[in-house]
This record gives sequence, structure tokens and C-alpha cells, in this order.
Amino acid sequence: MNSKLLTLVFLSFTLVGTSFCQTKSNENSSTGDKVYPVSKSDSEWKKELSPEAYEVLRKKGTEYAFSGKFYDFKEKGVFICAACGNELFDSKTKYNSGSGWPSFYQPINKESIDLEIDQSLGETREEIVCAKCGGHLGHVFPDGPKPTGLRYCVNSISLDFKDK
Ligand code: FE
Repeated sequence: MNSKLLTLVFLSFTLVGTSFCQTKSNENSSTGDKVYPVSKSDSEWKKELSPEAYEVLRKKGTEYAFSGKFYDFKEKGVFICAACGNELFDSKTKYNSGSGWPSFYQPINKESIDLEIDQSLGETREEIVCAKCGGHLGHVFPDGPKPTGLRYCVNSISLDFKDK
């Protein structure tokens, strides 16, 4: 919503043709930063998270396959964001994808996550982001089981677990 508005503002300034405004809007829209309900500075996140969690959640890193604490975890409950506690995935939707990362066929609700286009590594993937803090969770792929056909492939280190 915010970035659409910025794009509109940028376009209208471009049409007017004032180079001052154009430069200014360019700076704003290039950040593309969404403001999340839980919003902290980079140094605050660095202090709060372990170096490994910071690398994945804030720097979009990926843990090694079969290395995380949840890929083979079968307890019943809710997976929450390790950075902000937002409820993300119900254990009922977890399945063994064989990928070495915890995999789910759907989020706990539509509002709990955001999807963003990720064009790193020379391919287009859909990145899964915590809708509350903007933390990087993983990626979603179209090779999951029924009923959604989607595989939400998530780093264990981005998650914590709450028993039911
Ligand atoms: Fe979060």
C-alpha cells in the first residue's frame, strides 16, 4: 500500500518535471521499506538475536538443510516468529517435504505473513516475511501437497514453538 502510494507520488512529480522533487521521490521509493508493527533498528535486532538468527531473520540468510531444530519435529502446537512472537504456522499443516527445512502447506492465517518477490541467486522466488516484524522466514514454492499445493519452506532458526 505504502510503496504504491510512493510510486504514485513519484510518477506525479516526474510528470510535473521538477528535478528536485524527482530526486527526492527517487530516494524514498528506492528504499521500498514497509513499516511493520514491530519496528526496530538494525543495531537493536543485532543485540536481541543470536548471530545466526540475525543473519537469517534480518539479513535473509538460509540455514543449512537438515541442520535446524524443527525439520524433523512432530509435536502439536503453533510455530511463532523467533523475533517477535507472531503466530505463523499450525503444526497441523506441517509435513515432511524431504527438503531438510520445516515445511508447511499454509500459514496460520493470511494476515500472519507477507510475501515478497526475491530475485537473488539469479531466479525469481517468493520470499516469506513475518507480517509483524518483517523478519525473513524462508520461501514458498508451488510443489506442496493438497489442499494448497504450496510448500512454505521455513528456516528453523526463524521459528519458536508453543505447545497446545
Ligand atoms: Fe516477527
